[in-house]
Amino acid sequence: MNVQRVAELTRELLIELGEDADRQGLLKTPERVAKAWAFLSMGYRTSLDDVLNEAIFDSEANNMIIARDIEVYSLCEHHMLPFYGRCHIGYIARKKVLGVSKLARFVDCFARRLQIQERLTSQVAHAVMDAISAEGVGVVMECRHLCMMMRGVEKQNSIMTTSSVLGSFHDDLPTREEFISLLNRPRD
Ligand code: ZN
Repeated sequence: MNVQRVAELTRELLIELGEDADRQGLLKTPERVAKAWAFLSMGYRTSLDDVLNEAIFDSEANNMIIARDIEVYSLCEHHMLPFYGRCHIGYIARKKVLGVSKLARFVDCFARRLQIQERLTSQVAHAVMDAISAEGVGVVMECRHLCMMMRGVEKQNSIMTTSSVLGSFHDDLPTREEFISLLNRPRD
């Protein structure tokens, strides 16, 4: 990403909004905004192979592994406004498991782009599936969308839930039910 160019565009946007781009408080804003966007769009410049970086381990266990409440911060592609919430990932391994921190980094890799929640959910599920050839994967995401909360319908309290189930999580009802009941277990 060309930070300089994005800063210039941001300055133009400020002027178009009716601001005095030369006033004290805004002088460094274009540069700050450009740097923020470089971070928030890092997913475009991150490959899953970099993320994985040998954090796949052999395992004979084929029980269900769940990571709950992974924080998600993303940007909706319709308004370029944030949506944020929690992501829960479950999988049943065949021979390989993932380091726990990698699941969170998978989420970041796809969340730091312009997204819709449905696609983000499905991309995370497929990334886990492809990385370790899991027997099954389930991903549930619960997010609040600022484009709904701050503008438009102004629904402050609605949470959008999306899910993606692959392999045995899709084909086998008891597996899916186990996943859902583990997700619903009370938190300490
Ligand atoms: Zn939106």
